[in-house]
Amino acid sequence: MLHRSLVGGEWVDGDRRPNVNPARPDEVVSEYAEAGPDTARAAAEAAGAAQPGWARTPVAERMAVLDRIGTTILGRAEELAVLLAREEGKLLAEARGEVVRAGQTFRYYAHQLLQPQGEVYASTRDNVHAEVRRRPLGVVAVITPWNYPIAIPAWKVAPALAYGNAVVLKPAELVPASAGELAGIIAGSGLPPGVFNLVLGAGRTAGEALLTAPGVDGVSFTGGTGTGAHVARQCLAHGNKRFQLEMGGKNPLVVLDDADLEVAVRCALDGSFFSTGQRCTASSRLIVQDGIHDRFVAALADAARALTVGDPLDPRSQIGPVVSPQQLAQNLGYVAAGTAEGATVAAGGTSDGQFMRPTLLTGAHNGMRVAREEIFGPVSCVIRVGDLDEAIAVAADTRYGLSAGIVTTSLAAAERFKRDARAGIVTVNLPTAGTELHLPFGGTGDSNHGPREQGGYARDFYSVPVTCYTGW
Ligand code: NDP
Repeated sequence: MLHRSLVGGEWVDGDRRPNVNPARPDEVVSEYAEAGPDTARAAAEAAGAAQPGWARTPVAERMAVLDRIGTTILGRAEELAVLLAREEGKLLAEARGEVVRAGQTFRYYAHQLLQPQGEVYASTRDNVHAEVRRRPLGVVAVITPWNYPIAIPAWKVAPALAYGNAVVLKPAELVPASAGELAGIIAGSGLPPGVFNLVLGAGRTAGEALLTAPGVDGVSFTGGTGTGAHVARQCLAHGNKRFQLEMGGKNPLVVLDDADLEVAVRCALDGSFFSTGQRCTASSRLIVQDGIHDRFVAALADAARALTVGDPLDPRSQIGPVVSPQQLAQNLGYVAAGTAEGATVAAGGTSDGQFMRPTLLTGAHNGMRVAREEIFGPVSCVIRVGDLDEAIAVAADTRYGLSAGIVTTSLAAAERFKRDARAGIVTVNLPTAGTELHLPFGGTGDSNHGPREQGGYARDFYSVPVTCYTGW
């Protein structure tokens, strides 16, 4: 299987690169033709040429295209899920869920177009009509990470197309196949050539060319905080492009003494280790009150040790491989750093090939690197606290602010946490990960810059308000 870039409706060849299965690093899942900066610039130009026509296409036609894309994804869900699981390493069940989410996202934005698209105001002047309309942003570069190879492209591309923009998608180099298949589906949907373009290339070359291309009006980026800061600087320096950044997290899960222990362990196990901990919303700091601490740690360590780590296509597996040798080395490096700073490995801490055991570090404090820096692997640390006030203070003591959770049976504690937690997503008695497509998604601090993604809020990035005054 070979995937190529798509520019102005034409598939573009390039040097062949292998796409390997992280569960079996000697197995080549597919090949892709690597694109460089010239292809990226050509894609931006093609998008610029196609965008005005697409923006003028009647809403009913735009809806039909988006609906066809969503329906095709859903119809091919099983095949796409197997491909995704093989190239990224998440469990087949999780991959299925992700593909279905992508299909539903396209259908959702088809119908979003029937929502009100502007506002009418009373004018303070006589015989004047005042209204706010929306026009498309223009050409949008979409730059995505490897951990959700089809869902994140979908939740950016679908609203971008719905609101009349043209798109250049640059997925992470580790996961070209899911994006390549998505591009094939979009190309076959009746969308005019050039409205959607795909660039399969490295961030530092092809991605960089999109940040500096004069024809790109906006960049929607999801990835690491360091890369995001670079994207922001380049966007400002090269034509004052609009940008939206979804970045890292160091998400706390607070467990209070009054928590249901079973619920607490379930939330921590899911949030910390499922999807191999490779989620921006993963719980990587477990902030646990004194009275429940020892029982919680013992039960969670037992549950973590009982998890089956294995091939994502094996239905018995509960945790898949780490995505790459580099990411594995980073994870193990953090375990070493944690123990060097005084934490104890209560479960896991080891790897076998590219498979890492779910790892629980206890005796951590919020000053340790494992508590401050995003690890992005199946590693979580436990921080002991005395009361709710301290828990809230420790939870907020981070540069990030994506999601934050609490496990408690106290309504008052839950309400306080929802009010005071410094995060864009707050969960009560649920894992910190796990969101819904029709609700806004995004964080605070170094986790986010710009308008929220998903749901109706996506319109704020992909369209520009135009204030109109009409005298009569
Ligand atoms: P990276 O920041 O390394 O890469 C993200 C994307 O940016 C990739 O497509 C990458 O391309 C591209 N890129 C890299 N350098 C440049 C550049 N100079 N110019 C333009 N594009 C560039 O993140 P990862 O892919 O490693 O993903 C993991 C990170 O993503 C974690 O920090 C995680 O928290 C975050 N994330 C955030 C989410 C959120 O919604 N908040 C959701 C999911 C992940 P290439 O891969 O080819 O280098």
